Amino acid sequence: MRHALATLGVAISLAAAFPAGQQRHDLIIKNGRVLDGTGTPWFRADIAIRGDAIVKIARAIDEPAIRIADAAGAIVAPGFIDTHTHARRGLTQTPTAANYVRQGVTTVIEGPDGSSPVPLGPFLAELDALQKSVNIGAFIGQGSIRSEVVGSANRAATPDEITRMEALVEQGMRDGALGLSTGLFYVPGTFTPTSEVIALAKIAGRYGGIHTSHQRDDASKLLDSVRETIAIGESGGLPTQITHHKVIGKANWGRSADALRLVDEARARGVDVTSDQYPYTASSTSISSALLPAWALEGGRQAQQARFKDPVTRERVLTDIVAMIRDERGGGDPKNVQFANCGFDPALNGRTLADATKQRGFEPTLSRAAETVLWIVEQGGCQGIFHAMSEDDVMRIMQHPATMIASDGEVPLFGRGNPHPRSYGTFARVLGVYVREKKTLTLEDAVRRMTSFPAARIGVQDRGILRPGMKADVVIFDPGRVRDLATFESPHQYAEGFSHVLVNGIVVFEKGEMTPARPGRVIYGPGRK
Ligand SMILES: [Zn+2]
Repeated sequence: MRHALATLGVAISLAAAFPAGQQRHDLIIKNGRVLDGTGTPWFRADIAIRGDAIVKIARAIDEPAIRIADAAGAIVAPGFIDTHTHARRGLTQTPTAANYVRQGVTTVIEGPDGSSPVPLGPFLAELDALQKSVNIGAFIGQGSIRSEVVGSANRAATPDEITRMEALVEQGMRDGALGLSTGLFYVPGTFTPTSEVIALAKIAGRYGGIHTSHQRDDASKLLDSVRETIAIGESGGLPTQITHHKVIGKANWGRSADALRLVDEARARGVDVTSDQYPYTASSTSISSALLPAWALEGGRQAQQARFKDPVTRERVLTDIVAMIRDERGGGDPKNVQFANCGFDPALNGRTLADATKQRGFEPTLSRAAETVLWIVEQGGCQGIFHAMSEDDVMRIMQHPATMIASDGEVPLFGRGNPHPRSYGTFARVLGVYVREKKTLTLEDAVRRMTSFPAARIGVQDRGILRPGMKADVVIFDPGRVRDLATFESPHQYAEGFSHVLVNGIVVFEKGEMTPARPGRVIYGPGRK
């Protein structure tokens, strides 16, 4: 098959062999096992592409084409759509987004976790002007809007502030947001009452958007958080999504069964609730968000530093950090906290909280580790990786029919820091580990969760399914060889098994290399005016 696939990229002009007047296709992908994205079993067919669209899918297409690709033996599927990414910073530096393209992703969605540029319009215009390999869309972030209007104060917004925030959501939706994202786990989202989120969600819903939430608590209060995410959809009158659905902390392992039961009950009474997930047992965010209590972070950096200097308050903070290492993101042991990126000391990247505590001359007990955490935050903080989930929960959430795949990754600078491997591996890992090895999902179902399902979720009607008239975002991969290589120890490794990736009808990856083409577009939401 490797040999056969090599013919893609060879320009074969067949025009002369066909009657005049018959329009040439730009590309025909021949003999592939077509997995159309709907969940239907693969079927053998040829696919003809003209311009940026699929024009024909048939058992055999013997028509003139500028290029022929023989995909014999390979799977031909729609490009993958990742509804939770932090691509915006990295995409400017690395507009190929090679870490995503090489695992089949052709569309990345930004603005998750309540965090987006405000207003969104100029940002989308910038993305539109950027020459990039992938398509990109964005949510408008509730946390960012609240920062603008309320700051990082721990209080409910006033009616006047709510009116101003509603106007910013409305503007975001008119600028082209796909919906409203919340990060009720983070400051300042965590200070937001549910009713305030619902008020803003209603605006997003009116413009056809969805709500997606990094929930308030994925650990001991997981079920309350799921109820809240459901309530925001139910009372806000819009589709709602538990993003990176997970169960943090050993004491809570197994509760995915209860969380999914809540999802099923809500869906049974007509609430449009879904989840997305990345296939790893570790999460990643900043050390301060993960291991410090929200009350200690209120009011910005100066207020935090004053708090840490007060001996009584400092003790309270340390007590809470101990509990968070023991019961929540710390995974019960300083060894389970790993540093992804430390601006103040890059030598810590990849090391653990236990290592850092020893380096400071202490045994890595919980209380010594808590002191190290606070010291790190005082130095400026780090991004961390938190090994605190169970494989059983990951698999149970994955198998739920209303769960799609999303990376929560970024576009890393290749080789820099020690980022979570999800940025390089998410989609290939599902196909290699959870389809081929563990048989958690069928290939057809896994691809559905990467294509038609996310497309429908964010209201994108012309991508996510291979069908005439749809945009030609197409991936070709070997189902026997596809796999992720990125690990927690060595994350900067591209996925394997993809031979070709097309975005808007243009080949962006082939023969193991990114091409110079930059055909990516901005994906606008349904409310754009
Ligand atoms: Zn998140």
